[in-house]
Amino acid sequence: MSNTNYSFFKSVEKSFDKAAKFTKWDKGLLEQIKACNSIYSMRFPVKMDDGRIEVIEAYRVQHSQHKSPCKGGIRFSDAVNQDEVMALASLMTYKCAIVNVPFGGGKGGIKINPRNYSAYELEKITRRYTSELVKKNFIGPGIDVPAPDYGTGEREMAWIVDTYASLKPGEIDAAGCVTGKPISQGGVRGRKEATGLGVFFGVREVCNMPDVMKKVGLTTGVVGKTVVVQGLGNVGYHTAKFFREHGSVVVAIAEYEGAVYNAKGLNEEEVFQHRKKTGSILNFPGATNITNSKEALELECDILIPAALENVINGENAPRIKAKIIGEAANGPLTPEADDVFAAKGILVVPDMYLNAGGVTVSYFEWLKNLSHVRYGRMEKRFTENMNTHILSQIEELSGKKVSEKEKLFILHGPEEVDLVHSGLEESMITATREIMDIWHSNPEIPDMRTAAYVNAINKVATSYSELGIFP
Ligand code: GLU
Repeated sequence: MSNTNYSFFKSVEKSFDKAAKFTKWDKGLLEQIKACNSIYSMRFPVKMDDGRIEVIEAYRVQHSQHKSPCKGGIRFSDAVNQDEVMALASLMTYKCAIVNVPFGGGKGGIKINPRNYSAYELEKITRRYTSELVKKNFIGPGIDVPAPDYGTGEREMAWIVDTYASLKPGEIDAAGCVTGKPISQGGVRGRKEATGLGVFFGVREVCNMPDVMKKVGLTTGVVGKTVVVQGLGNVGYHTAKFFREHGSVVVAIAEYEGAVYNAKGLNEEEVFQHRKKTGSILNFPGATNITNSKEALELECDILIPAALENVINGENAPRIKAKIIGEAANGPLTPEADDVFAAKGILVVPDMYLNAGGVTVSYFEWLKNLSHVRYGRMEKRFTENMNTHILSQIEELSGKKVSEKEKLFILHGPEEVDLVHSGLEESMITATREIMDIWHSNPEIPDMRTAAYVNAINKVATSYSELGIFP
């Protein structure tokens, strides 16, 4: 990114070391947890539509196998490099541990700007990448399970599962080799919005804690809170959507070409459609343009959501940030220097490695669905509805009163797949928030929520290692 001396992996190590001091684990064990176990750096040729052959640079890093499979997305970005993928793979290990998802961390990256390639070229690149992973045993439902990340989505995951399945004929669990797939290819309902919804659940939980809100000088709850979102990709879009739907006011949305501001609130879908139509977020009707996108981060607001890339808030711009709460929807948007600035100013940073864990949490549900070969809710939906109908009719008969039609629909409803997925996600995010807050509040020396989150992650991973008997 902009700062050439910046190492994302070093910055993850720095945050890790800061937290390790608050744990009791052996130094060697901590070193093992920090290290990336396997790094696959590859180059392969792909013939482009114009006949040119391009050599593609790509990676897959498996940070930890303390639990199998490894798990983490694949990003398409021209900023991809080994250091970045290592950092992102490490964050996946800690993220999974915090939300109790039984995976080790992994991450992949292809150094391309997807906007510069045709759909056919992207398909060839994705399929070739997958076959390279198969060749080296770097993918599989019990080995390493990729997912979407920056610049990738359902379409790429469909190509991956199709390539994998065709190279592994007869593998009954092949659909579990990747998550974030379209429903027709074994995806789960609720995966697409999962990261954004998880961000919302996490920040909402923090906002519902009166003592925490008192410290940052805000009232409890999310209703009426002003929100700035950086990034209108899948994560930013859905985060903005859930905040708006729950009564917050999304005052600004930023993309790389600029940002738009409206104190009365923006509707993310309208902004998205405007950008699609015009090719730019700027000149959205009724909103003010901010041509230097970075300035949007410095707007007056209650909650700032960086939902794009790493290293966007650093020692340089952190002192100008006015938000009271920063919810890290992206991976690594703040540098350790920014953390120090915010801890000193009393700005609450809700850290990436748990706040954006909604994606991998629902990926876990998708993987379980693939291994069980049955859709969530299929077995119990009808049964629950029949039972609820019976209970309700008994209540009405015994009380001599009727519930309203609206209530009736709500009470009778048996769970669909999406209901169960959202509910499992809500539970995971609330539990994780409370666990981290308890750790933070139990030790006044812990400077910030990120350090508390790392302490939680380190304790869980270290316990798992020591219970394996590797480090008695
Ligand atoms: N790429 C997402 C992340 O960084 C999701 C990973 C997954 O679902 O495995 O957490």
